[in-house]
Parts: sequence; C-alpha cells; structure tokens
Amino acid sequence: MKISFPHMGHSYVALKWLVENTGHECIVPPEPSSRTLDLGVRHSPEFACIPFKILMGTYLEVIEKGAEVILTSGSKGPCRAGLYWVMHQYILEELDVGVKVVAFEPPLCDLKDFFQKIRWVRKTGGLSLKEFVQVLRVTWEKLKAIDEIEKLSHEIRPYETNRGETTRKLWQALDMLDAANNEVDVEDALQEGQKLLQGVSQDRSRNPLKIGIIGEIYVVLEPAANHYIQIMLGEMGVLTDRSIYLSSYTSKNTIENREGDVLEVAKPYLGEAPIGGHGANSIGETILYAQNGFDGIVQLAPFACIPEIVAKSIMPAVSRDHGIPVLTLFIDEQTSKAGVQTRLEAFVDLLDKRRQVKAKRGIERLVI
Ligand code: SF4
Repeated sequence: MKISFPHMGHSYVALKWLVENTGHECIVPPEPSSRTLDLGVRHSPEFACIPFKILMGTYLEVIEKGAEVILTSGSKGPCRAGLYWVMHQYILEELDVGVKVVAFEPPLCDLKDFFQKIRWVRKTGGLSLKEFVQVLRVTWEKLKAIDEIEKLSHEIRPYETNRGETTRKLWQALDMLDAANNEVDVEDALQEGQKLLQGVSQDRSRNPLKIGIIGEIYVVLEPAANHYIQIMLGEMGVLTDRSIYLSSYTSKNTIENREGDVLEVAKPYLGEAPIGGHGANSIGETILYAQNGFDGIVQLAPFACIPEIVAKSIMPAVSRDHGIPVLTLFIDEQTSKAGVQTRLEAFVDLLDKRRQVKAKRGIERLVI
C-alpha cells in the first residue's frame, strides 16, 4: 500500500522509515507551502483552525502523489481536534479521491481500537509481530534522536558567528539519521550529528536572552506553520526552549501520561476546568519558564483556537504574578513572515531593555 501521514516538523524522517520497513511504500508528505495552505483553505470550513487547513492541503498533495492510505492521530478532550480526522475523511469522500484515513486514538482512550489498527498495518505489510516490534523500536529511537539533535541546534544557534551555519549542520545531521537502519546506526548518527553541531563556530562570551515557546502542538511543532520562529529568534541571538517535542508528547500521552508538574502549577488559575488542547499546559509552562529564569514567553496560537484563547485570557494575571512578559501570536492563513519578524524584534527589544533596567537596579524581578 502507498501510505502517507501529516507533516510535523522533522518527524517525517522517522515515520518514513516506519512505513517503508513495515512493507509499504511511503509517500513522504512535502513540507507545508503556500500551495498546501491554498489547497487546504479551498476545501476546509472557513472557521476551522489552521492545523486543520494545513493537514487538508497536505492530504490533497499526497493523494496527488499516489497515497492510498493516510495514517493520522485522533485526540481526546473537549477541543475539536478529536473530530478533525472524521471531518477530513468526510471532505475527502465528497471529493471522491479514493483514499482511506486511519486515525490512531490515544491508547489510554481506546486500547482495543489502537491495537486493532496497529495489527492492520502490520498484517497488510506481511510482518511478524517480532519484526514489527523491532521496527517500532528503531522508529522510536529515531524520533528521540531527531528531537535531541533539534534541541541542540536551538541551544547553539544564538552563539553562532556565521549566520545559518547551525541550520546547515542540522540538515546534515538529519540526513545522517535518515540513513540509519538499526538502533546502533541511530546512536552513531546521533553522536556524529552532535559533533557536527558542536563544531559550529561560536562566540560563547554572549549572554543571550531566553524565551520559552509554548502553545498549540501543531503550530509549535511545525516550523512551516510558525514561520520558523525558533530559527528566526536564534538568528536574532535569542536562546529558545520549546515546551513540546514529539517524542516527549508521545510518551506523555501513550506510555506514562505524566504531565503532573505543568498541570499542577496551572491549577490556581484554572482549577479542574478541562479547557482542552494545550491551553492548561500553556499556563503551567509559562509559570515553570518564569521560575527557571527565562526572560519572556511566546505563545503560538492558531486563530480561533479555543484552548489557547482561554489561556490567553488568563495570561495577563500569570504574567503579572510571575513577572514574565508574554507575547501571543495568533496564526492563520493571513499571517506573514514579515509580520511575525517585526513583532518578535519589538518583543526582543523590550526584553533587552527590561534586562538592562533589572541589572541597573540590581533586582531579580520587575513589576509588570
Ligand atoms: S487545539 Fe486549537 S488549533 Fe488545535 S484543534 Fe483544538 S482548537 Fe484547533
């Protein structure tokens, strides 16, 4: 079968390996572009949020390339994300494009359904259970390695002396991970990639501002959706940390489900109210970043994203109580790279001035 899946950051490197090694042909989803968004907007309800539209466009692009099956994820909770795959399926049926959508619900929601779908992928590829488990292990190692490499690139970029060198090395490291075919290869490629990145020429005398990136999972994880915000900030000399990586998200939502700290610190602002998506995480992560000495927060929110709108309405109180400025960027199909860049430059200037004032007054915290 020709199988594809949504594009989400660099995870396609691991997912391509998974599909190819379960006996199927992989149609690698292209990085979302203006064409992807145009296609998605044309075939989506006007008020759907941008992840829905980008995924719709991606599905139509991979169908053009021959995809017969699309693997995607479902979701639990009050946010509408859980119904998105159903909507996508209806629209694709109406378009009569002859594709099957297979959605994996979080196993903690419906264990039987999850394993039935896994079994279907394995059986149609003709793999024994033992072979399939081995493929899953390598895929998991790849996912973790991809996240580690990307994290390291964000730590190094603000110190680079040749603009763009870190990003070029990141792509080389990802290519090495792409070529790895077993757990040992993945470990070797990871170490080689780390060496490559550490070899970037750097000025370690710099003292970069630190910004935490929080918000809705898709726009946080997909650089093409957020206009490469972490690269943009890194090249402005800012050190960024992102609250979500796919490997940590997957483990929290499938194996361990322990988001305890983040949700616990958010409780005074939310109580037990389930606001869906990553809204509660956005509150909790802002507090944790403030407690860890970060200078500011950028909240990424798809336009009309209900959980992030709720979080944004609480954010002024969080920001005041914990002394940390928060910039919320709402993203939709009208958002331009230049607009994002201008707002980030102004925010970074503000954070820089705050840091100077704090240093001059010899204080840890400024009242907002
Ligand atoms: S979390 Fe927000 S953007 Fe994501 S599906 Fe829900 S409402 Fe849409």
